[in-house]
Amino acid sequence: MTQIEENKPEVKDTPLVPIEKVVSLSKRRGFVFPNSEIYGGVAGIYDFGPLGVEMRNNIRRYWWWSMVQNHDNVVGIEGATITHPRVWEASGHVENFVDRLVDCKKCKRRFRTDHLEPENLEQHKCPVCGGELTSEPRVFNLLMETYLGVVEGDRMKTYLRGEACQNIYLDYDNVVKSSRVQVPFGICQIGKAYRNEVTPGNFLFRQREFEQWDLQFFVHPSEMDKWYEYWKNFRFEWYKGIVNHKDRLRFREHGSDELAHYAKKAFDVEYKTVLGWQEWEGVHWRQDWDLSRHSEYSGQDLSYTDPLTKERYIPWIVETSGGVDRTFLNLLLDAYEEEPDPNGKEPRTVLHLHPWLAPVKVAVLPLQKNKEELVSSARSIHENLRRYMVSQYDDVANIGRRYRRQDEIGTPFCVTVDFQTLDDQTVTVRERDGMTQIRLPISELTMYLLDRVTWK
Ligand code: ATP
Repeated sequence: MTQIEENKPEVKDTPLVPIEKVVSLSKRRGFVFPNSEIYGGVAGIYDFGPLGVEMRNNIRRYWWWSMVQNHDNVVGIEGATITHPRVWEASGHVENFVDRLVDCKKCKRRFRTDHLEPENLEQHKCPVCGGELTSEPRVFNLLMETYLGVVEGDRMKTYLRGEACQNIYLDYDNVVKSSRVQVPFGICQIGKAYRNEVTPGNFLFRQREFEQWDLQFFVHPSEMDKWYEYWKNFRFEWYKGIVNHKDRLRFREHGSDELAHYAKKAFDVEYKTVLGWQEWEGVHWRQDWDLSRHSEYSGQDLSYTDPLTKERYIPWIVETSGGVDRTFLNLLLDAYEEEPDPNGKEPRTVLHLHPWLAPVKVAVLPLQKNKEELVSSARSIHENLRRYMVSQYDDVANIGRRYRRQDEIGTPFCVTVDFQTLDDQTVTVRERDGMTQIRLPISELTMYLLDRVTWK
């Protein structure tokens, strides 16, 4: 263990962070922008800025590495966001992908009936102002319609995909035939999904365009329990590994009234924020539902033949389905802290992001801007580091201000080039959370940082 890790502070039991704090930081520092803001914006749609896109890519790549590249029996695909319209009939979305909505007659707020407490629903009572709720829910289908083709009359109505995972069932047979995979095996995908959410809001939590990550793991029915448990535990540990506040993570088992007719059980990984305990990812028992339905609707036999026993069957599926954007939001809420200054100065805003996921890994800072040798040494260190990781060079303002700027965006390490560097080729490495510093030879710097910012 190095001196820096020994001095790393324990995770503090900080209060839950108001969403507005991360909305404001996201805009100020270029993580997330409201989409089409110059035209007044569009509810439930966001763009990712320069730091946001780096962090998002890190989140995606870490998921991809641990799910696909680090499992011998899992492969990946990337499907289109538009499919044949029959897909959504087979999946049940055209018929059943609906939200039921009631309105408060007094405060005019809208509520999804599945988000209301039973007593509010039964007594038609608004949970916010106590006013009367409309008694007959209005039903809305969430699928977003679009049209393929240009000639009126020949245009085909279809849908932007309402959930990303459908491509996995559609490509299942092609993957089996082209990839030499054998049951048990999984197919993963990260991709956009679109929903006409009736209550978009809470920043990235409920959007109309968002990104999902899915694993569909195909098993022999006799092994379903074993693999369900494997992926359920794997996914929980995965989330546990990237948050600071592990006590804000839990499983919630679905009650029998919530289960789909084919599901023996279902668990949500939930995370606690100011919004309360909310779903982060679902671990689903899908049985043979999806492949059977697509076999029936497409007329193509999607059964699997075991190469050894020659048994023919439709594989059962364990699904893990989570959201990239919800991960992004939960990680910001988990990492954000306004740390009081011991000397009574302005509090330090810091993002305690996991170094694997932080958008910038290291900042290289010459102690003074007007000393040629310091600047040139810092620039050369930065040029070398950026071959391996995202490095920022910064020589504007005093060193304390520069540290603060990096703390606020979650940069785990700052490297300072000072006068001693010119004598002995060593630099100061300052760690974000404990603000401890060590001196390292420049020759050891790359390995030292790589070891800490690369996932393993
Ligand atoms: P909810 O009940 O909150 O509407 P869901 O059960 O419909 O969610 P799934 O269809 O299981 O969600 O989607 C899988 C994951 O996709 C969710 O766990 C969540 O992380 C993410 N997700 C779903 N809807 C949205 C959305 N509108 N905006 C952002 N992420 C979403």
